[in-house]
Amino acid sequence: MNEENGNISLTNVVNNELFSYSTILIKGFIRNVVDNDSKLLIEHSFNYNASNNTSLWTVFKNNFKVILELKHGDNLITLKYGKSILTTKLVFKPRRTKFTVQPIYVICSDHDGKFQAPKDHDNSVHVACKKIVLGLKLIQMLTAEKMDEQGFGKKTFQIENDCQIIKSSLIRESVFKMNPEKLWEHIAREITANYNSYVKKFLAFLSCTYWDGKNLHGHVALGGGGLALFGTGCLYTWPSELEEILPCFMNMKKVNTSLLLDDSCFRGNFGGCFSTTLGSVWHEIGHIFDLGHSKYGIMGRGFDNVHLTFTLDGKNIAQENVFKKKTYAVYIEENCINNLNDNKIDLPNNNSSKLCNAIKNNESKTVCWSIGCASILSVHKWFNTFNEKNINENIPNYVKKRNLITSDIGLKVVQLRHDDGSVIHSWEFFKPNKRIFILPIQHINIGLTIFAIDLNGNMLKQLL
Ligand SMILES: [Zn+2]
Repeated sequence: MNEENGNISLTNVVNNELFSYSTILIKGFIRNVVDNDSKLLIEHSFNYNASNNTSLWTVFKNNFKVILELKHGDNLITLKYGKSILTTKLVFKPRRTKFTVQPIYVICSDHDGKFQAPKDHDNSVHVACKKIVLGLKLIQMLTAEKMDEQGFGKKTFQIENDCQIIKSSLIRESVFKMNPEKLWEHIAREITANYNSYVKKFLAFLSCTYWDGKNLHGHVALGGGGLALFGTGCLYTWPSELEEILPCFMNMKKVNTSLLLDDSCFRGNFGGCFSTTLGSVWHEIGHIFDLGHSKYGIMGRGFDNVHLTFTLDGKNIAQENVFKKKTYAVYIEENCINNLNDNKIDLPNNNSSKLCNAIKNNESKTVCWSIGCASILSVHKWFNTFNEKNINENIPNYVKKRNLITSDIGLKVVQLRHDDGSVIHSWEFFKPNKRIFILPIQHINIGLTIFAIDLNGNMLKQLL
């Protein structure tokens, strides 16, 4: 569906569209480009105030992408190119729910909270928090865009806008000595002592991550349960303001690895670091929403090229052959890399075979949810307004003797997963009232975990 006005067309938003999130991406194209240097002018006013925010955006091979921060209520967006003008109204109204994602900055008891960064870079706690909140907003929007591309509309999770600072009881030396799993457990305990973890999931960053020129200390990139935990080794490449997002993705400055961490999937530049690390945060957030590893897309290794969703020139692509090399990406997401090299994973079956369908461009092919992932998120409690009355519903049930999965509500997805989280088989159901599913006998192997989610987001996770 295009919003069209003569020369200017919008491809991913429609007039009067309601958004449940504030940081949005507008994509479109110019039919007749005046000249290669002409820019697109955006005027943004809200709630019918006379004052406008204006900004200029590049048009590249007829296409444009614009990132805006919507205000509560009505937002009037006017796009001007040459003599062409298109006005569209977009409405921002957060979805009311208790189920949110809370951004957190964790500071060790003997640390000032300043993250590692180049000399001229403001690495204060305040700036760290701004970067984390903006990054989470981008992931919220990316999630919605990719759900839309799979046909589920712009469904996404809700976030808390204030980044909470937590002083850990750990000192830096203890953090440096702990393995990532132990660290995750410790921080998870400290965080859940302060919050109701039944309705909150957490995205936390450790301030003290330190690259000494050869080795990385205090680094973690793990997501599961209710917590996604990260080091801040590449936080210096992240934007803290909306207008810095594109310049950060397009920053080709080389990383001086004697001083700073390069986690760019062999691109060696700031933009690559931002893309890989934002993507890996997105991937781990996928895990806290109960997603397993898919062969492709965000829950595979499609997260390195997140920048393609924002940029127009299709450059700075992560190299595909990196999977076989030892890299920091391997260190950071060891499980994921192993899975990709592992032939145990079958191609998605039947319903799942639409490999990142939508538009077959470079971006949508690699940066996407698999249909299994998108189907799980479409019914997940963090993605839907939850009815308190449903709290005592029966979860899906596995009847071992008969290889049956039953559900009072209706099944949405059934998956078989390895203990490392990789999805072996995925069945998605698109009609309501799928109350019984018989597990095909040939797929039943000891050691696999059965995952099932019903239409109200109730989940079963059980070892076969
Ligand atoms: Zn993973």
